[in-house]
Amino acid sequence: RAYNFNPGPAALPLEVLEQAQKEFVSYAGQGMSLLEMSHRSKTVERLNEETQELLLELLGIRAGYRVLFMGGGASMQFALVPTNLLAENKVGRYVLSGSFSEKALAEAKAVGAAEALASGKDSGWSRLPDLAGIAPKSDTAYVHITTNNTIEGSRFSTFPDLGTIPLVADMTSDILSRELDMKRFALIYAGAQKNLGPAGVTAVILRDDLLAQCSARSIPTIFNYAAYAQHRSLYNTPPVHAIYMMKLMLEWAKNQGGVTALEKRNAYKAALLYEVIDSSGGFYEGIVEKLFRSDMNVTWRMKDEEMEKRFVRESERNGFEGLAGHRSVGGLRASAYNAVTVEACKALADFMLDFEKRNG
Ligand code: PLP
Repeated sequence: RAYNFNPGPAALPLEVLEQAQKEFVSYAGQGMSLLEMSHRSKTVERLNEETQELLLELLGIRAGYRVLFMGGGASMQFALVPTNLLAENKVGRYVLSGSFSEKALAEAKAVGAAEALASGKDSGWSRLPDLAGIAPKSDTAYVHITTNNTIEGSRFSTFPDLGTIPLVADMTSDILSRELDMKRFALIYAGAQKNLGPAGVTAVILRDDLLAQCSARSIPTIFNYAAYAQHRSLYNTPPVHAIYMMKLMLEWAKNQGGVTALEKRNAYKAALLYEVIDSSGGFYEGIVEKLFRSDMNVTWRMKDEEMEKRFVRESERNGFEGLAGHRSVGGLRASAYNAVTVEACKALADFMLDFEKRNG
């Protein structure tokens, strides 16, 4: 298999793919594929419930929260968060830390009143804004934060205490990759295609008290978190196969030792790459300041675009996938989500050292 460092859709564990292959044509001995099964069947209902429970269990928030499975990707949540949470005369306030957070704010502005609360843009996203002591105004409906910035390669390690103001987090690129105090968050959303499985389903995890506020708002049912909660995400036809793949991913994550073990391994994997970058005497140059570096998306630049293109070309010839930086920022990026093995990161570190020797 390729050493897959794609930013998303991302690598899946081989065991997960093989299990799905085994069960593809006839699921649970029923003589039909899950793709052919009614979402009103007991089998799919159970799968749906068990996946939701397992996600909460792995996140360590079994009580007081619920999971919704929705379509439309994390991008749809950029619009649905304000659609559900922005009451009249209230403002959604956004922490800007990279381009996905900017997109989230732009979408919120299309829905209602929204503005930036803090921004790291002046640093070219190489730093994160300091949130210590931040005190949003009393008309704040919620504060939105992107916990890990997939494109830039940065992440927050601490989160502000906002009292009663709900903290909403886009955790698309770091959910289940590290231990965070989940109780800090009133709503978490994540497109599945990094740490939760293939694209096609988005997990929204929200606190019960916030849900009570959503149900009071008159919005189309298909956009309404309360409707999804009421129907356990079976209001309309859900992306059953993507949910099934998520279940396999969650079982795999649990077998790995859960978030505690995954975090430790992720830190080790990222350190292998950052060490090569930091010891290269400037041949590889990290884009993000050390304090803010992400373990999921390791980003760096090289002398010029020519050298970066050569690096990508040679890496592909050597079995590495997905190392070109995002088209909006350039440079290089290795996305080492939960399913990326230590072996793959070691192989990449070795390749980087060898490339440096030949071109430095
Ligand atoms: N937010 C973050 C942090 C992301 O990394 C991504 C995708 O990479 C998105 C949002 C957009 O997700 P989707 O493509 O599921 O809409």
